[in-house]
Amino acid sequence: MDQAVVAADAAKSPWGPVAPAPPACSLADVMSEQLAKQLEDENIAFPTLTHPGSDLLLSDESSETTSDLMLAKMLQMQFDREFDDQLRREEKRFNGDSKVSISFENYRMVHPYEDSDSSEDEVDWQDTRHDPYRAVKPQTTPRKGFTGKGKNITTKHDEVTCGRKNTARMDNFAPEVHVGDGLGMDLKLSNQVFNSLKQHCYSEQKRSARLHDKKEHSTAEQAVDPRTRLLMYKMVNAGVLENINGCISTGKESVVFHADGGSLEEQPVPDEVVLKVYKTTLNEFKNRDRYIKDDYRFIDRFSKLNPRKVIRLWAEKEMHNLTRMKKAEIPCPEVVLLKKHILVMSFIGKDHIPAPKLKDIVLGSEDMKNAFYQVLHVMQQMYQECNLVHADLSEYNMLWHEGKVWLIDVGQSVEPTHPHALEFLYRDCRNVSTFFQRRGVSEAMSACELFNTVSGLNIPVGEEEEAEFLSEIVALEKRNEDHVQRRGKKTFPVSCEDGDPGEPDADD
Ligand code: ADP
Ligand code: MG
Repeated sequence: MDQAVVAADAAKSPWGPVAPAPPACSLADVMSEQLAKQLEDENIAFPTLTHPGSDLLLSDESSETTSDLMLAKMLQMQFDREFDDQLRREEKRFNGDSKVSISFENYRMVHPYEDSDSSEDEVDWQDTRHDPYRAVKPQTTPRKGFTGKGKNITTKHDEVTCGRKNTARMDNFAPEVHVGDGLGMDLKLSNQVFNSLKQHCYSEQKRSARLHDKKEHSTAEQAVDPRTRLLMYKMVNAGVLENINGCISTGKESVVFHADGGSLEEQPVPDEVVLKVYKTTLNEFKNRDRYIKDDYRFIDRFSKLNPRKVIRLWAEKEMHNLTRMKKAEIPCPEVVLLKKHILVMSFIGKDHIPAPKLKDIVLGSEDMKNAFYQVLHVMQQMYQECNLVHADLSEYNMLWHEGKVWLIDVGQSVEPTHPHALEFLYRDCRNVSTFFQRRGVSEAMSACELFNTVSGLNIPVGEEEEAEFLSEIVALEKRNEDHVQRRGKKTFPVSCEDGDPGEPDADD
């Protein structure tokens, strides 16, 4: 019965006829040497995959194909190879000639021993698994300071190793330093090159920090620097000011703020005041040194002070000049307080609206004529009573308020003994004369006539007016200078005859 079943099975098996099962053997047989030999021979019949290049299915006709596992493995391998070939073809078609290509590498069914196959392909820089812009971590030298043996010894000073290390170190430079894309290449930077690059980076970093610094200081150009703000805040805190409202003007040398007056112990504070803040940036003041360094009132202190402190002198000078003018009852702001480089004075205007400058108003011809005579008069007063020359007089520094001309901006005003005072006076006269003549004031005299009228000098007015007149003025200044040097630093009214000195000016 058993025999019949086996026979029927054999006829049905797809693998062909099955040999009849070997007869059962005894223990003695199992232990026999003969059987061991026979088993070994059977094992050898299984092929071992030693030569990957050979086509396992086709090349070895004689190879044993009775093992299912073996057959399955061989089939799978063939399938994978064909799959990979197909993948390569698709990859090629997909990328075409494009410079940027996509790799299907990750989808390949590569068998470990087959990898050498792909090494024949072109090096694919676009392979996503390799970023050419990231420096390959250089090999480090072990602690002992060298690698290799005998002839192949490499020390930590090896040029190639150091060069690669230096290239990798460029990664540590500040982010704003552009090191280029040399990292992807096998760049070797010599120590010398690397050190100078490093040095350059450090100095660049420091430089940009300095630039930043400068920017912060330069905010003083736009508004006021923190120290000035603190001073202003202290004035409000002390009750001298009620409130600081806003900026009236930003000039090259000063910023003018409007403020509500508070109270001071020993003197009344007007309801509305201005704060003239002299700028602490020095650029503009450099050009104006000549207005102060030759002014005998400040000459000693000027030479001893550092440039920053000189700026305070300007505020102080304006204060002294305003005080003198006020004494002579010239319409001008009244000094309230001087704090370092901030001058607080009365506000010319009303209800927060500053009086307009002469240049900005339209006056009837009567008013204009009236204004001219007022200016002529205050110029005479300034020169003769206050012993001052405005030195920046123009329609920009005269305000029209309550039917009167008010003089402002007298920081640069000098005494007539100043080596250039008469030139300054002449310039003032020219500005005034030109302005009123342009505004149709027929009574407005020429610059030379105005000069003589204001100063009381009698310089001849010739045909070629200006040049001759100016050279006369300069000659006069020279004589006056000599006189001052001979007689000491006292103030003398200038006279053509070089006569007796007048009364020295009382101190403010
Ligand atoms: P700068 O030296 O910058 O020209 P000024 O003293 O001329 O300084 O002041 C600038 C501007 O501020 C003036 O043109 C004027 O409009 C305004 N101003 C200055 N002082 C006063 C004041 N006391 N009252 C009203 N406005 C003033
Ligand atoms: Mg001005």
